[in-house]
Amino acid sequence: MEEKEKNVSKNFIETIIDRDLEEGTYDRPVLTRFPPEPNGYLHIGHAKSICLNFSIGAEYNGSTNLRFDDTNPTKESSEFVRSIEEDVRWLGFEWASECFASDYFEKMYECAELLIRKGKAFVCELTPEQMKEYRGTLTEPGKESPYRDRDPEENLRLFHEMRDGKYPDGSMCLRAKIDMSSPNINMRDPVIYRISHEAHHRSGDRWCVYPMYDFAHPLEDAIEGVTHSICTMEFEDHRPLYDWVLRETEWPNPPKQIEFARLNITNTVMSKRYLKKLIDEGAAESWDDPRMPTISGLRRRGYTPEAIRRFCSDIGVAKANSVVSIAQLESCIRDDLQLKVESRNVVLDPLKVVITNYPEGQTEECEMENNRNVEAMGSRMVPFSRELYVEREDFMEVPVKKYFRLFPGNEVRFKGAYFITCNEVIKDADGNVTELRCTYDPETRSGSGFNGRKVKGTIHWVDAATAVPVTVRDFDYLKIVDEETGEEVMNPHTLTIRHAMAEPSILDSEPGSQYQFFRNGYYIEDTKLSTPEHKVFNQTVSLKSSWKPKK
Ligand code: ATP
Ligand code: MG
Repeated sequence: MEEKEKNVSKNFIETIIDRDLEEGTYDRPVLTRFPPEPNGYLHIGHAKSICLNFSIGAEYNGSTNLRFDDTNPTKESSEFVRSIEEDVRWLGFEWASECFASDYFEKMYECAELLIRKGKAFVCELTPEQMKEYRGTLTEPGKESPYRDRDPEENLRLFHEMRDGKYPDGSMCLRAKIDMSSPNINMRDPVIYRISHEAHHRSGDRWCVYPMYDFAHPLEDAIEGVTHSICTMEFEDHRPLYDWVLRETEWPNPPKQIEFARLNITNTVMSKRYLKKLIDEGAAESWDDPRMPTISGLRRRGYTPEAIRRFCSDIGVAKANSVVSIAQLESCIRDDLQLKVESRNVVLDPLKVVITNYPEGQTEECEMENNRNVEAMGSRMVPFSRELYVEREDFMEVPVKKYFRLFPGNEVRFKGAYFITCNEVIKDADGNVTELRCTYDPETRSGSGFNGRKVKGTIHWVDAATAVPVTVRDFDYLKIVDEETGEEVMNPHTLTIRHAMAEPSILDSEPGSQYQFFRNGYYIEDTKLSTPEHKVFNQTVSLKSSWKPKK
């Protein structure tokens, strides 16, 4: 990717590919694939795999396929296929071919028949419980199935009958005949086909036998001509089986599997299964809930493809598992938005201010820069008049040490307007502060060149008469650290809804528009909940960062 710095040292995957190219291992250009199972929405962990596969494809003038690994009919659906296509495209990648493992069912079936004819696979009728018992343990070898020595003719007949729907789910299966005493449990006559009378999202009820992952995946790679099949570390122990399948089904110039460590991030959940659980239990509203670490959730929250790609490239690839701080992801989106979006004045928790010496009925326009880092982004005019709103937390009746904002008798700068002094505090019957009476100094107007005296605090404000009420949704992490145990637990409070007041220019905003709410953070107009009559904004990230890059 363009974000990738030149001359950084190559990762271990590139080193393997370099050697393959040098040695002429493959009779075809580099081809990688991103192979999601369409049983949920993609998350940021998948983004790492997507960025890795597509950038390797591009780097070696090869290409990358998007392959739906849809060999398990139960949990898969076309809705998930569509969302995955959208997310990969949104991240900025184009696939060479869009493939479906289910398109290879016939070919895979033929490969299984070949194994049977070679005496390398057999139909087994052990029950799942017996199968488990026969499998052995890490320290003890397994036991051979009594069905292991069926002759190929009988195996073929039974396998055809399985396909023809003669047998119920779980009554029999096809197993590879490898080695029940292998120290690698994956090699102990693994199941390669099972019966499932369940409709498939694409092939309907054409099939009632389905290949298992370890048998299907190498064949999918080989059929497409993949050269380097990149997957996560938990498949390392499956590699001998990957190689066995390709060898025994006699593929010339087969692909190779390379494993890397999966991405883990603090304070969040990273598995489709758990993400689905959050939705089912009501902790999240949908797959694209902005609190979710899904690509669609991050998009709705205001993350950009650039920030996600930068994050994936910054964290690099390794074989050792590690947990990346969520602050590093946040730092990437802050860096990206900082130079891209305009600032707006929005008061999240409004407290009324009356400027008692400002003429009633008068309004003036104050100039506000749109982005303090990018002069070319220009400025806009914001109305100022006698009644304003400020953040409730910009006032303290009894200031703590080093508090430079509003308190009785103190003068502060209202950004882009005047110096204002707080004189009087109005409270309701319960003692809650409802209003501040202040005065302004007309000499101090911003841009007038006034430099008579300095104030330490600058705060933002909106004009009450023209302010636009908006809903602002602030989010907290899905998981937080339990102080007592030091372990991450689900956070019971992840959403704060605020009734905020925005400067009138917010009416020009559209769903998907992004801003820095001055002094508060980055926000995006929500694409689902916002209406022209009442706008809703999602917090992308706060302004403050706790994460510093390692030196
Ligand atoms: P989940 O456990 O969330 O369901 P999965 O691994 O089952 O994830 P798949 O749809 O099978 O999801 O994965 C597609 C690809 O994405 C695989 O190659 C997988 O290794 C990769 N992938 C999934 N999660 C991560 C992660 N956290 N970090 C890196 N790669 C991942
Ligand atoms: Mg999975």
